[in-house]
Amino acid sequence: MTKYLIPSLLSLLFVLVVITPGQAQDSEIRMYVTSSGTLELDQGWLTAMTNHGTRIDIPVPMYIIDHPEGLIVFDTGMNINVVPDHGEEYWGPVAQAFTPTMTRDQGIDEQLQQIGKTTSDVKYVIHSHFHLDHAGNINMFPNATHIVRKAELKNAWWPEQFQRAAYVLDDYKNTRNFNFIELIDDLDLFGDGTIELIDTKGHTQGHQSLIVRLPNTGTVILAADAAYMPENLQGTIPGIVWNVEEAMNSIERMKMIRDRENGEIWLGHSMEQFQTRRLLPEYYD
Ligand SMILES: [Zn+2]
Repeated sequence: MTKYLIPSLLSLLFVLVVITPGQAQDSEIRMYVTSSGTLELDQGWLTAMTNHGTRIDIPVPMYIIDHPEGLIVFDTGMNINVVPDHGEEYWGPVAQAFTPTMTRDQGIDEQLQQIGKTTSDVKYVIHSHFHLDHAGNINMFPNATHIVRKAELKNAWWPEQFQRAAYVLDDYKNTRNFNFIELIDDLDLFGDGTIELIDTKGHTQGHQSLIVRLPNTGTVILAADAAYMPENLQGTIPGIVWNVEEAMNSIERMKMIRDRENGEIWLGHSMEQFQTRRLLPEYYD
């Protein structure tokens, strides 16, 4: 009897392991959080019609997700050329409105090195949008697949006049031959729900946010510039917007997903919230 029981138990184990790979894989996802230095600006840029005249320091978050299907970077921060002079030379006059403070080791390449990776290990670079504090170092990833919304690419190359200042063409003028996935829809990147890109237009024409579903941490919605500050979730219009109605709809969309999945919205530029994060080399899983 035992002679037959053991092989059947073994084959049952085999079936369990082979048929349900999801859990084994999920536990291998690690999400690292870091910041590309800080930006100093008038808070009125973030919370319309309130807090004007108060200059504050905000974080510039970047995320590295080590997933079994490939290494992902979500936003590449501010171009490393802003390091020597607070962006005066590289960004020009806009550096007076948005003043960067960054050290060289806060570049996404050196942040990757701190967890034993290089820029060439990165399979996917997901861009929330192409503003100067989000896609600054796209050039460091010539061999990756870049995922951006088609509307964002078009607007980055020829922005509306009133949105032009925050796009630095030098950041991406040499990327025409890069491998882009130009999204017009939401995307479940690996088909397993762990990494989902959602349309959150409003801040710009082609803004997107990233949902990361982690086995232990749960659902995290990386808002990027779809919601900068806690006030934006309470109805205060984000200061810099392409379209107010779309921006507010996108905030409602994120809140619905948050509530449905008992998740969290990680704001784009809240120092108060960012200071509660575990930072690289620690991670969320
Ligand atoms: Zn932006």
